[in-house]
Amino acid sequence: MNANRVLVTDFDGTMTNRDFYSLVVEQLLPPDMPDHWVDYRSGKITHFEALQKYFAAIRADESSVLNLLSQMVLDPHLKTSVASLQNSGWQIVVASAGCQWYIDKLLAEAGVSLEVHANPGRFEPGRGLLMELPTASPFFSPVHGIHKAGIVEHYLKTGATVAFAGDGFPDIDAAKLVTADLRFARRDLADVLKREGQAFQTYRVWSQIADQLIELSSL
Ligand SMILES: [Mg+2]
Repeated sequence: MNANRVLVTDFDGTMTNRDFYSLVVEQLLPPDMPDHWVDYRSGKITHFEALQKYFAAIRADESSVLNLLSQMVLDPHLKTSVASLQNSGWQIVVASAGCQWYIDKLLAEAGVSLEVHANPGRFEPGRGLLMELPTASPFFSPVHGIHKAGIVEHYLKTGATVAFAGDGFPDIDAAKLVTADLRFARRDLADVLKREGQAFQTYRVWSQIADQLIELSSL
């Protein structure tokens, strides 16, 4: 489908308040766990490998892992907000460097059905959350699993108006491809854009992004 308007949105920290991986590190992993995040930031391992190592180190049972999902705090207005945005002609595409396993669960629980590009995974007691690279995806990236900028480029090529929303380092390239009025950022992504002198819109909860886009499209 060639939509006229497409919002490509990150999931962790953008549709939710907290990242799944940070809750895992904080609550389920031993404090003496190697700091894979530092290795990622220094370029020793990829973003995907850092998340994969943390998730595979989980030894808690599935119910303890599921308990983290509510602590991520999905935007409580997500369902109505998604419907309003879609009614004003926007297609919504989720692009995540995280794991489809928890994204699907959170969206289903909220009664929301969206196109999701993320890393597949399954939970196995004793082996943790086993996340795999989405090598069959048209947007496959060995670094993040999903190449978010590739998704934005894909829709820009169809001639669509494309907005992007994110909060982290894996969002930088994708965010730079869209115009400042359609570029939504907070936290690490906002810091990087500020440093580079790139303008953006900010938000506290995802539904504010939807509100702003609806307002823009009614102008
Ligand atoms: Mg994020």
